[in-house]
Amino acid sequence: MKQRALILIVDDEVANIEILNAALEDEYEICFATSGEEAIEIAHKVLPDLILLDVLMPGIDGYEVCRRLKENALLADVPIIFTTGLGDQEAEVRGLSLGAIDYITKPISPGIVRVRVRNHIELKHMRDQLAELAVTDALTGLSNRRRLEQTLKQETARLARTGDRLSVIMLDIDFFKQFNDTYGHIAGDRCIAMVAAALNRAVRRAADLTARYGGEEFACILPGLEHEEAMAVAQSIRDHVHSLGIPHMRPDAGAYVTVSVGVATARCLPGMTSELWINVADQQLYLAKAAGRDQVIGTIFGADYQDGDHRLHTESCDRSAETGGGEHPPGVNGIPVNSGGVS
Ligand SMILES: [Mg+2]
Repeated sequence: MKQRALILIVDDEVANIEILNAALEDEYEICFATSGEEAIEIAHKVLPDLILLDVLMPGIDGYEVCRRLKENALLADVPIIFTTGLGDQEAEVRGLSLGAIDYITKPISPGIVRVRVRNHIELKHMRDQLAELAVTDALTGLSNRRRLEQTLKQETARLARTGDRLSVIMLDIDFFKQFNDTYGHIAGDRCIAMVAAALNRAVRRAADLTARYGGEEFACILPGLEHEEAMAVAQSIRDHVHSLGIPHMRPDAGAYVTVSVGVATARCLPGMTSELWINVADQQLYLAKAAGRDQVIGTIFGADYQDGDHRLHTESCDRSAETGGGEHPPGVNGIPVNSGGVS
């Protein structure tokens, strides 16, 4: 069953809170505050789905509460409905221009309050769902690349304040093009979904993030781990994919679906961009591919790491290998690429 929405009622007059509470308590969870200061404190604590906010209060008034909530990234999207006895248009315009979505004038009509609140709660649920869909990969239910990049940016900034470590894992399914060619795209999608599930079984902490980076490529963000611990997680991902036992007639005579995994760990320092972790992990993934696949390779890097143009090389390596011959570069980063074996 869907959880009931939580509404924060803010009014310095307890009688008003009682009227609003009576109108809404059958449908919603209710909490309340009797001052602006208290409202801000409680809003941070409970993250309400909607706030009914009195304009006229001693101390911080409703306008100021609204302004402060809108400044906070976590609370900026919480819909605010002003409640006031003012009833003049200027006050209404001021409230709406501060970011409130609606206005209810006192004396309060319980019927109107119920309908307006219901409409705005519904709209908020739709907005939340859209926002969630926009950062979720439809096939696997993992985060998509957009959320991965957003989270990585936030995490590198957050951890740079304490100089803590951050690891990024990049992995992809070995010989996936051949898998699709042999078994078809529906089986290919199923294979991707199964590997995603294995990934989620291996990466278990609430602070970690697992994402489909694109195609048959996945990524994980692991904050706060030592490199050895991140390598152990990566190894566990590889093991979990092994234990899926998905049959695969591979060009290298292997019999099952495997993954190659790259791990990049660094201490977060101010000025290091989040792209660095992706690039270094991708480079390690490339090395795992070139070394024969179905393995984990990782590295610790520092703020002095020089970013190279390896991504292009990784792709050209995969492409030449997966087309099974034809044109391919004679060598990549000094590692020879051959048409039949390395993929
Ligand atoms: Mg008041």
